Amino acid sequence: MTARILVVDDVPANVKLLEARLVAEYFDVLTAGDGRAALAICENRPVDLVLLDIMMPDMDGFEVCERLKANSRTAHIPVVMVTALDQPSDRVRGLKAGADDFLTKPVNDLQLMSRVKSLVRLKNVSDELRLRAQTAHTIGLRELAQADRPDEPGNVLLVDGRASSQERLQRALKPIAEVAVISDPQAALFEAAENSFDLVIVNANFDDYDPLRLCSQLRSLERTRFIPILLVTEQGSEEMIVRALELGVTDYIMRPIDPNELVARSLTQIRRKHCNDQLRASVQHTIELAITDDLTGLHNRRYLDSHLKLLIDRASARGRPLSICITDIDRFKLVNDTYGHDAGDEVLREFAKRVRATVRGADLACRFGGEEFVIVMPDTTPEMATIVAERLRLMVEGRGFGISQGDTVLSVTASLGIATLRPGDDTPEALLKRADLALYQAKSNGRNRVVAAAA
Ligand code: GH3
Ligand code: MG
Ligand code: MG
Repeated sequence: MTARILVVDDVPANVKLLEARLVAEYFDVLTAGDGRAALAICENRPVDLVLLDIMMPDMDGFEVCERLKANSRTAHIPVVMVTALDQPSDRVRGLKAGADDFLTKPVNDLQLMSRVKSLVRLKNVSDELRLRAQTAHTIGLRELAQADRPDEPGNVLLVDGRASSQERLQRALKPIAEVAVISDPQAALFEAAENSFDLVIVNANFDDYDPLRLCSQLRSLERTRFIPILLVTEQGSEEMIVRALELGVTDYIMRPIDPNELVARSLTQIRRKHCNDQLRASVQHTIELAITDDLTGLHNRRYLDSHLKLLIDRASARGRPLSICITDIDRFKLVNDTYGHDAGDEVLREFAKRVRATVRGADLACRFGGEEFVIVMPDTTPEMATIVAERLRLMVEGRGFGISQGDTVLSVTASLGIATLRPGDDTPEALLKRADLALYQAKSNGRNRVVAAAA
């Protein structure tokens, strides 16, 4: 992971120290000796994270943070306040100023790296989301264009062996999350797999159970692999923390727990989980858009082109029949010419509905283009396909097509051509071609009929 980190501190020795550690981990580091310089850098250069000292002359860290968060060009940059150990009130003030997290001086390496990495990962996914939202906005997809949604409460699973700490942690997290509590770590694994949590907090306080076992199981189960894990450990258990981070535990926090710290860390993880979920949903949605016909909601030709080959290969491999039907609305141009293009669209939508009502779940119905539709029917002989096509033909002919223009009901018919997979080396193109010839035959024979290609 590489990222550009801005270190802000008025004491040059502090800057040097942090810079050296970050550079050793291959981060790209920028530095600033005061608040104004920091603001100028963030405004003009891409920065992935700011490590911000609080006590600085002229403009202190709180003010710098507030200004960064108030400026739409810099508001998305995560800010980590570097606070003095004995000043818990600073943490609260920092969070109020919009800081995403804090580190206490003297900054320990493990903390520095786990926090920096956590926040950089969060920034990466939210940057990607913002980018997609921009694109979605540009091409007019409103539903995908929302990037910065307000924080929704998270679903947290707290795995904790002791009643007293359960209660304390639950209370601390109340403002930001719904917390489910469980004492038995083995049961927790099932709980996590069965539900959709945004964060699992594992409190390492079991009498005779290694908490890292649960962490590693959570990382290896398909259903829980992507849930962030926050480990709560004893002061000084560096060794356990190093192993935990290696196992893929996302972050850790040491006892005694500062509720503000717990909230800040949890919020980072919950946000990241939400961003990731959104990202995945947007990929899914983009794929759906790419393979769906806008007008009718059926699959489009692009999908047919890629999927027909798969269906044919599967049928061939299993020695099963497969038939396809191409249907074309008769004299459709006349509908457009007489009632207008919008009325034509209405007819197409209604036609698609009837196609959908005719086919089984295993069949694939697509809009092939214009007023042509294709139905792919796996496990279907030409005789069966002819029955299905005849049923569709009757469904179209049997009931008029209402259009919103007045109370007009149009009589619509369609012609249908059927072809069946030939054993051997049949291809999608050849199959479609034979169905198309059969359709042409149906048109020349007088329309409103089904013709099956010779096998
Ligand atoms: P035939 O019985 O020979 O199939 O005659 P036809 O009029 O249906 O065939 P033709 O291919 O001449 O005309 C098809 C028409 O379908 C022309 C085109 O404008 C119209 N069309 C294609 N796509 C759409 C669409 O998305 N919406 C509307 N309203 N019309 C469309
Ligand atoms: Mg037509
Ligand atoms: Mg046509």
